[in-house]
Amino acid sequence: MKFIADMMLGRLARWLRLYGYNTLYGIVDDDDIIKRALEGGRVIITRDEGLAEKANAAGVEVFLLSSNSLEGQVEELRRFGVEFRELFPANARCPKCNGPIERVPKEEVKGRVPESVYEKYEEFYVCKDCGQIYWPGRQWREMLKIDRKLRLGKSKEED
Ligand SMILES: [Zn+2]
Repeated sequence: MKFIADMMLGRLARWLRLYGYNTLYGIVDDDDIIKRALEGGRVIITRDEGLAEKANAAGVEVFLLSSNSLEGQVEELRRFGVEFRELFPANARCPKCNGPIERVPKEEVKGRVPESVYEKYEEFYVCKDCGQIYWPGRQWREMLKIDRKLRLGKSKEED
C-alpha cells in the first residue's frame, strides 16, 4: 500500500515511512494530492472531509481520520487494514524524504558521522535519495519506545 498524506499529518507521514510505507507528504493543493494519488495508485490519508469527498468523487481511495494524536491515527489506520510491523531499519524508508534506506559498510560513513559515533556503532544505514545517515543510537531507541507504544499500546506513563 502506498500513501499520500495531507499537510496536517506530518508526524504520521514520518512514522508511516519508518514503518516502510511509501508515503508522499508536503503537497498543499487538494487537486494536486488527488492527481498524484491517481497517478501513483496511492491511498489518500486525511482529516479533511472536503478533500475526502473530492477524492472519493474522483475515484481515489481515502482513509479519513478523526484523531489528533499519532496513537489514535495509527489505531484508525489499523482499522482500515494497515499493518504495523515492528520497526526495523532495513525495512524503513527515510522519514525525511521517503527514500529507500540501505545498510552500508561502516567504512563508508567514516568522516560523515561524528568520530564518537563511528567508534561506538557498527551498524549504519544511508538514505539512497537524500544521503541522510542513520545508526541505532539514542534517537533510534526513542523511536523504538514509541513504536512499542503504537503497536502494543504500552502504558503512557512510561514517558
Ligand atoms: Zn532521505
